Amino acid sequence: MKPAAFEYHMPRTVEEAVAILARVAPLDGRVLAGGQTLVPAMALRLARPSHLVDINRVAGFDRLDVRDGMLEIGPCVRHAALDRSAAPGPLGRLLGLVQPHIAHHPIRTRGTFCGSLANADAASEWCLTAVALDARIEARSGRGTRSIPADAFLLGYMTTSLEPDELLVRARLPLLPDDARVGFYEYARRAGDFAQVMALVTYAVRGGVVAAPRIALGGLESRPRRMAGAEAAIVGRVPDALAFRSAADAAADALGPTEDPDYARTLATTAVLRALAAAA
Ligand SMILES: Cc1cc2nc3c(=O)[nH]c(=O)nc-3n(C[C@H](O)[C@H](O)[C@H](O)COP(=O)(O)OP(=O)(O)OC[C@H]3O[C@@H](n4cnc5c(N)ncnc54)[C@H](O)[C@@H]3O)c2cc1C
Repeated sequence: MKPAAFEYHMPRTVEEAVAILARVAPLDGRVLAGGQTLVPAMALRLARPSHLVDINRVAGFDRLDVRDGMLEIGPCVRHAALDRSAAPGPLGRLLGLVQPHIAHHPIRTRGTFCGSLANADAASEWCLTAVALDARIEARSGRGTRSIPADAFLLGYMTTSLEPDELLVRARLPLLPDDARVGFYEYARRAGDFAQVMALVTYAVRGGVVAAPRIALGGLESRPRRMAGAEAAIVGRVPDALAFRSAADAAADALGPTEDPDYARTLATTAVLRALAAAA
């Protein structure tokens, strides 16, 4: 199939992009970033936007910078750019662990970090990363710019707090402290498929015990989230197999209703245990 007819817009500045979006959003206008989700949906006519605002020529939108302790990611930064070299220290290591799990290489050279956040798939690796690290997401419209914490941005399955006329103009990920250990585990049925489950963890070991743990789980519920019970189960403990097991069990205990609770529990405990072990 071919996409339904649409009007194409190619702004060169952020002001122009925001102005066009304000005009076409009420007419089912959509932003086009990497096109790796939107274009296949249009080809299948699951999406039929009447206007496309292509942001790929907007000056500065491909910028990837470290500033004031944050990695700043512009809306046209591709998945592939977010490898180990993107950020110093443990954050760069973590991005290098996560990124190869997203789709296949050609998709990673085109799809964008911010597009993944805007799309809010429950099994998106970048949504999990954003929630785990408390990313800030900047949205711009004719009303100004607002900065939204990742947890308040991702509301549910393919649902965000972005208004139709708001353009996601930047995501900001905090750098991790030098002593942070990082681990990521994902299970997908085939290489390149969306995850059935994924877990991302970071923690430090200070005075022989776990400090500042972050444990986030994705793929099993309608959106990825930090597992507070799992973090509480491990903080202040020696990072050994017993402590890891307590955290994994606490994460599984906190899962909401799923179609197959036993299977979901097995996936959750396995993912958290393996991510913690990888970080250790
Ligand atoms: C075969 C295949 C396998 C895949 N596997 C994975 C996977 O394992 N993990 C994963 O996370 N993803 C996967 N994806 C999706 C891929 O990562 C996409 O790149 C991503 O979901 C969307 O980014 P994009 O830049 O391509 O956005 P687009 O397709 O251009 O847009 C997606 C949506 O976000 C909106 N949007 C995009 N940018 C903005 C913005 N700046 N402001 C406001 N709205 C915006 C668009 O309007 C649209 O509604 C896969 C895709 C394919 C085709």
